[in-house]
Amino acid sequence: MNRNLCPIHFLLYNINMRTTEKVLISSITTMRIGGVAKYVVEVEQPNEVVEAVEFAEFYRLPIFILGGGANTIGRDEGFNGVILINRMRGVTLTEVPEGFRLKAMGGEVWDEIVRVACERGLTGIEALSKIPGLTGAAPVQNIGAYGQEIADTLESIEVLDLATKTLKTLKKEDLGFSYRKSLLNTTARGRYFVISVTLLLKKGQMSKPFYNSIETYAADKGLSDFSPMGIREIVSAIRADKLPDPKFKASAGSFFKNVYLSEEETEKAKDKGLPVYEGKDGRKINAGWLIEKAGFSGKVLHGFRVNEKAALVLINESATTYAELAAARAEIVGGVYDKFGFWLEQEPVEIA
Ligand SMILES: Cc1cc2nc3c(=O)[nH]c(=O)nc-3n(C[C@H](O)[C@H](O)[C@H](O)COP(=O)(O)OP(=O)(O)OC[C@H]3O[C@@H](n4cnc5c(N)ncnc54)[C@H](O)[C@@H]3O)c2cc1C
Repeated sequence: MNRNLCPIHFLLYNINMRTTEKVLISSITTMRIGGVAKYVVEVEQPNEVVEAVEFAEFYRLPIFILGGGANTIGRDEGFNGVILINRMRGVTLTEVPEGFRLKAMGGEVWDEIVRVACERGLTGIEALSKIPGLTGAAPVQNIGAYGQEIADTLESIEVLDLATKTLKTLKKEDLGFSYRKSLLNTTARGRYFVISVTLLLKKGQMSKPFYNSIETYAADKGLSDFSPMGIREIVSAIRADKLPDPKFKASAGSFFKNVYLSEEETEKAKDKGLPVYEGKDGRKINAGWLIEKAGFSGKVLHGFRVNEKAALVLINESATTYAELAAARAEIVGGVYDKFGFWLEQEPVEIA
């Protein structure tokens, strides 16, 4: 780590957290593209977030908050600003009349939190096993998989408001959760640095019916343990078969969002014989299905392979630039629109 900032930085702002200059965004995001970021600051306490914000303000540099980079894309021009990463650690579990309150600091690896909960027989997040990234990012896009989303069990989050530099608690009701959305990635994007996340979990297990792929996998393998740990094992096995592990294959997970439909679009889709699903938030068509039926499954476009087993995932096989990603994206979005008349929307955010 390079701590050799100009001495004036230390005189003015006592920047003592881990600060690195000129970091390739491709090295801190799982899609592995993106140019140089001017500074990356890793914070271990809330007061360090304030110091980093004051530092950025003094030099009039923009701030981008990053976690594990599993849902974030870097651009070729890099980022002439400060990337802030939460490295605060710690988990506490308390029994309360409603169940178990689990508070995890935002720098914890999300899957470790799921493991802790499952090991104690707590239900609520077991289907969110193996989602890459840090806990602080989990509420941002309301992570979801196999019939659960974090909004189901989230009680509150502790944040540092970058505008006022004060700590606040935001309750679930304040966060406006819906499919891959919250206040944190819509109306208040970039305003709150998530310090910790508090969940309310219960002893027990998920109630039936389970998500189709869980039912099918369990039936095929003759499994009947649907305890939190049992579901964790099933979900982990399904994911290992279908999704690229970011340690070995560069991707940002689902690159496109499922398509949510208005009343009128639903009618249009049904007339065309497209599979419309009733989701928690409304009617949708699976983006992977559209991409597959538009003929992209397994194809390599500008260095990105459209994953055969989950076509909404793009795997970076050989691309080194954002320009290549933009070209691949344009081909897929255009192809799906030409065939079905629906525009696909990108899920990962871009550092800008
Ligand atoms: C192989 C693979 C599979 C995936 N599967 C799923 C899945 O099943 N379901 C799902 O929902 N997602 C999935 N994802 C996406 C990703 O794992 C999640 O979005 C995850 O929450 C990202 O965590 P991260 O720490 O890497 O976030 P980053 O990519 O670093 O950041 C994501 C967003 O959160 C913001 N952010 C990060 N940390 C903080 C913080 N402390 N405070 C405020 N804002 C913050 C960032 O500014 C950015 O807007 C998958 C990704 C991959 C690569």
